[in-house]
Amino acid sequence: RKISIAIDGHSSTGKSTLARQLAESLGYVYIDSGAMYRAVALFALRNDLIDGSVNEAGLIEALRDMDVSFGLNSQTGRTEIHLNGENVEQEIRTIEVSSYVSEVAAIPEVREKLVKLQREMGRQKGVVMDGRDIGTVVLPEAELKLFMTAAPETRAARRYKELLDRGEDITYEEVLKNVRHRDHLDSNRAVSPLKQAEDAICLDNSDMGLKEQFERVRSFANR
Ligand code: C5P
Repeated sequence: RKISIAIDGHSSTGKSTLARQLAESLGYVYIDSGAMYRAVALFALRNDLIDGSVNEAGLIEALRDMDVSFGLNSQTGRTEIHLNGENVEQEIRTIEVSSYVSEVAAIPEVREKLVKLQREMGRQKGVVMDGRDIGTVVLPEAELKLFMTAAPETRAARRYKELLDRGEDITYEEVLKNVRHRDHLDSNRAVSPLKQAEDAICLDNSDMGLKEQFERVRSFANR
């Protein structure tokens, strides 16, 4: 029997890595809800709707004609995020997008639009969705809920390495600042703040390897 799996938690805790591993091993669909918020932030950056801070009214107005969807990359077999039909999977991962995405994600109209799409995609069974409010708001009926966390320094070090590998010109301190900034905004916003669902299993992976974590979680999914 196929189930729905919701994975929430702090930034850079390895949610998407775990979600992909689970989806691949179970033959489920992976939905990266953060990529959808990132696509909206990218749209705002590209269309001069961010000038120090986000032009909320302008962005809300633009939402009506904005198409955010997933498409299959036939070479990798992975689903990737599309903005108005264009594959933006790479562009949404920059530190520039990261530094504005949490502000964009705090706008109620943005959440309303994206949560609706996420619920539609989550209606099929056999889904692993990761984000900040999946177990609490998007798929409260999910059979397995995980909440991932780790020390901010551990998360920043991992993200720093990833960004360096991608050729970004950045310091560890900047990444740590971004991780803390997003934690703060995500946990304190008025609509659907980041919090652990009552029935979620908490995983602190500060000292846990990827393989060990995957095996633990895989056993939960089989129960
Ligand atoms: O998961 P990822 O780090 O790519 O998400 C980017 C940002 O999008 C988060 O920092 C958060 O502000 C926002 N987000 C959200 N709700 C979700 C997923 C992401 O608010 N379900």
